[in-house]
Amino acid sequence: MTLQEIPPSLALLGMSRAEMKGALASLDMKPFRAEQMWQWLYQKGTSDVMAMSNLSKSDREQLVRHAHMQRPTVVREQRSLDGTVKWLFAFEDGNKAETVFIPETDRGTLCISSQVGCTLTCTFCHTGTQKLVRNLTAAEIVGQIMAAKDALDDWPEDPTTRCLTNIVLMGMGEPLFNYEHVRHAMLIAMDVKGLAFPRKKITLSTSGHVPNIARCADDLGVNLAISLHAVEDEVRDVLVPLNKRWKIAPLLDACRDYAAKHPRQRVTFEYVMLDGVNDHEHHARLLVRLIQGIPAKVNLIPFNAWEGSGYTRSSPERIARFARIVEQAGYMSPVRTPRGEDILAACGQLKSDSEKQKKSSCS
Ligand code: SAH
Ligand code: SF4
Repeated sequence: MTLQEIPPSLALLGMSRAEMKGALASLDMKPFRAEQMWQWLYQKGTSDVMAMSNLSKSDREQLVRHAHMQRPTVVREQRSLDGTVKWLFAFEDGNKAETVFIPETDRGTLCISSQVGCTLTCTFCHTGTQKLVRNLTAAEIVGQIMAAKDALDDWPEDPTTRCLTNIVLMGMGEPLFNYEHVRHAMLIAMDVKGLAFPRKKITLSTSGHVPNIARCADDLGVNLAISLHAVEDEVRDVLVPLNKRWKIAPLLDACRDYAAKHPRQRVTFEYVMLDGVNDHEHHARLLVRLIQGIPAKVNLIPFNAWEGSGYTRSSPERIARFARIVEQAGYMSPVRTPRGEDILAACGQLKSDSEKQKKSSCS
């Protein structure tokens, strides 16, 4: 490729090492530089080309002229009284998404977004009220992790001292409706020469895209969380409309197959507790019958209210009764403590003001 043919700016973030080699070759750089670039980007966390001291001067100049590797920029940072941090990140085209850091005594979990908005319209979810604007790219998904690490000053030389230890794909969007970009990003997140998160520290949450659950089992093998929320198809059809396409039975079959491929893992079933909708004792009994044989745990999520949702949170007594039945059947059934409620950072509360550009406003 001649210099005239080089695109104005190569986006290096989110590239696999093989892609990086190709991209650097187009700048007349040697293939082994790709390994060094990966190290600078993902292990040391630098995006300042001039600081990449083991690259030659001419290589650095090529990169400054023809490549970029910026992460998303922070538009707003909010800190909850409980230590939770929520960032609103802006991407290159101005679209925005939210990312949340949840510190706990034994871990630090980053909840990342996979889409701006969501195509699905789960009736209890605030994100679901924001129409899908677009999928996030692998660079933007990985970029959220890197920008959060920047803000937390979390690029230690010794990875065992990191404060950000776990990743959950539970932010805005449905990750399995953006599978290729999510797959690409998670391969970089899990690569020991990349961001080096062990696969067991990554959890992907889905509302139930059955064919892509199978792909995820083969390609990634991360922890799987299923937003089940109801045990009868008529109720789930309303709460999680994707259920009209993939019913509870095939969804649970996909979970069985996932568990068979990854026998050391437990599938997490997420179950939002909605007063009078899905929180009766008979729902709990049916739940344990349905998931029989799947190594699993059931996370009970007290509904996080938002204006206009029309739902209310189940009482603590009802949640405790539900949990007891599930536990007596041999499944762990922790009740998730809502985190960051004061800054709307809890499950299902994330939303940005990005809207899909109407054709008329583009022209
Ligand atoms: N789209 C994916 C991941 C993002 S949602 C999914 O649906 O799984 C992350 C979790 O928060 C899901 O289990 C979702 O059902 C739950 N959730 C959404 N809105 C909520 C709310 N208002 N209160 C409690 N949990 C909610
Ligand atoms: Fe989308 Fe998940 Fe919210 Fe459903 S719960 S609308 S799939 S983000």
